[in-house]
Amino acid sequence: MYEQKRLGDHIEENKKLMLIAGPCSVEDESFVRLCIDLKAVGATHIRGGIYKPRTSPYSFQGIGDSGIPILMEAKKEVGLPIVSEILDLESAEKTVDVIDIFQIGTRNMQNFSLLRSIGKFGKPVLLKRGMAATIDEFISASDYLLEGGCRKIILCERGIRTFNNHVRTTLDVSIISAIKKNSDMKIVVDPSHSSGNRDYVQSHALAGIGAGCDGLIIEVHNNPKESITDPDQAITVEEFKTIVDKSNDIWKIVK
Ligand code: PEP
Ligand code: MN
Repeated sequence: MYEQKRLGDHIEENKKLMLIAGPCSVEDESFVRLCIDLKAVGATHIRGGIYKPRTSPYSFQGIGDSGIPILMEAKKEVGLPIVSEILDLESAEKTVDVIDIFQIGTRNMQNFSLLRSIGKFGKPVLLKRGMAATIDEFISASDYLLEGGCRKIILCERGIRTFNNHVRTTLDVSIISAIKKNSDMKIVVDPSHSSGNRDYVQSHALAGIGAGCDGLIIEVHNNPKESITDPDQAITVEEFKTIVDKSNDIWKIVK
């Protein structure tokens, strides 16, 4: 177990927190303005899904291919790397020129054929922990990426299913030090999906930083309550700025 060491070597080693921010779903052109605002308050990367893995096939599935030019425009305007979820090889092929870090979501953490074949694009991958995945399963999933030629892996703790019902899932900050002890992989925390509630996003984010994570991925929206997807957990740019400032302060102590 854990023989191989891996590095998210595109992240400057311990120089800066990775602060990934943006909406759950890219909805329209207003995404570009949001990205400009996010950069101004300290986002280092932009997030925004155009292909959404939804529990029900009748729910909004993301704007799909029509989001590609919007991602392009945002990238041109703000010049920050884009993190966005791909669901399969087809969506990866279509977006390879615009997405800088392919996000593989919780529901795909054990999609072994996808994990194995995504390496051919030569892009970093942000791999989210399965909702019921143990550390061994999580690391084994990253081994599939590695085996397929992916050398830049960032793990993401986004909450696991427990009996708790006061939050969407339970943020497992304990995995951060366990991952660090057993590998050189980077690990970021997603306080938006762990909490599912904007009132708790800041505390989950700061708990992650306090526990030694390498960054955050947070859902931010121009008008949080009107978000098409995940409206309960979206926060404003101002709220994100507070998290950025506090995170950087805490990080100085723990790094
Ligand atoms: C997301 O980040 O957009 C997402 C769907 O998250 P998760 O895969 O963690 O549920
Ligand atoms: Mn979401």
